[in-house]
Amino acid sequence: MKPVKMAEAPAGHSGAGFFATSFDQVIGLARSYSLWPLPFATSCCGIEFMATMGAHYDISRFGSERPSFSPRQADLLLVMGTIAKKMGPVLKQVYIQMAEPRWVVAVGACASSGGIFDTYSVLQGIDRIIPVDVYVPGCPPRPEQILEGLMQVQHMAQNESLRRRNSEEYQELMASYNIQ
Ligand code: SF4
Repeated sequence: MKPVKMAEAPAGHSGAGFFATSFDQVIGLARSYSLWPLPFATSCCGIEFMATMGAHYDISRFGSERPSFSPRQADLLLVMGTIAKKMGPVLKQVYIQMAEPRWVVAVGACASSGGIFDTYSVLQGIDRIIPVDVYVPGCPPRPEQILEGLMQVQHMAQNESLRRRNSEEYQELMASYNIQ
């Protein structure tokens, strides 16, 4: 049996019998290894996510094996596939229902930019209606790329200040998307 690999300790000070760090770092570490994804999958990229969930790629290595189809119990919105303009309000509603802190990954060309579907009916990137934290390129991206996107979010969660969501800058970002 392979030894269990432990997550690295956050930056801090250690000595005989003690380790001290900041609250931000501890919360960030806990959040980053317990991201619960909401797979908003509409087409082929969703199949790649199924592979990412499977035994070979095993997303549970990152603490994210618990997909949620209830927005209030998810903090990582993975948008995978072509988003028709008619679907836009639904996607936005899902995002609004998620509790803070929440992160969004646009998985694949369609979610990032509309992909090959430069047509009247397809949203040319989900960042037209909700803010996106990470873009994963590819049509479709391989599971390794989806995991890389997840690791980017982990990095953001680990380094995010606890005050960021209350900052003026963040409020302005939400206001620019007409989100209260
Ligand atoms: S990016 Fe490519 S693989 Fe992904 S949903 Fe669009 S067409 Fe399908």
